[in-house]
Amino acid sequence: MEQYEKECSPKPLFECKCCGHCCHGVATVSVTDAEQKRMASFLGISLEELRHNYLVIGKGSTSMKIINGHCIFYGEDGLCKVHPVKPFHCKRWPLHPSILGDEAAWKAIKADCPGFAKETTWEQAKELVRKQLNGS
Ligand code: SF4
Ligand code: SF4
Repeated sequence: MEQYEKECSPKPLFECKCCGHCCHGVATVSVTDAEQKRMASFLGISLEELRHNYLVIGKGSTSMKIINGHCIFYGEDGLCKVHPVKPFHCKRWPLHPSILGDEAAWKAIKADCPGFAKETTWEQAKELVRKQLNGS
């Protein structure tokens, strides 16, 4: 019976595989002032230290430094070193609102994130995004 349930229970439409792919690249997401304060407090350092050692202060936005092709907070163990206080854009990924109105965006995000089941459709992904936006 247990075996039957294992084989027949539906696959989740999305389940993060903790592969770290979304923490790699040439740039990271933006970090708001409030998020910076939470990160500094979490790391037990001053805001100035955080900004100097970990962030890139741009003209319009602030983001996290990239080292060795990944976000500076990406750990060797494959986990995020600031997980409890990571930026909103990290928390909501890959359920990005662009999925709602743009099938090409959905296809690109799905191709880039192994957390989506192969069978997950655009309609189902849109529902996941809506649920996240509604906080449910
Ligand atoms: S790319 Fe997708 S599966 Fe991999 S860590 Fe990011 S959200 Fe999770
Ligand atoms: S803050 Fe954490 S989740 Fe966000 S990109 Fe950096 S390592 Fe990844």
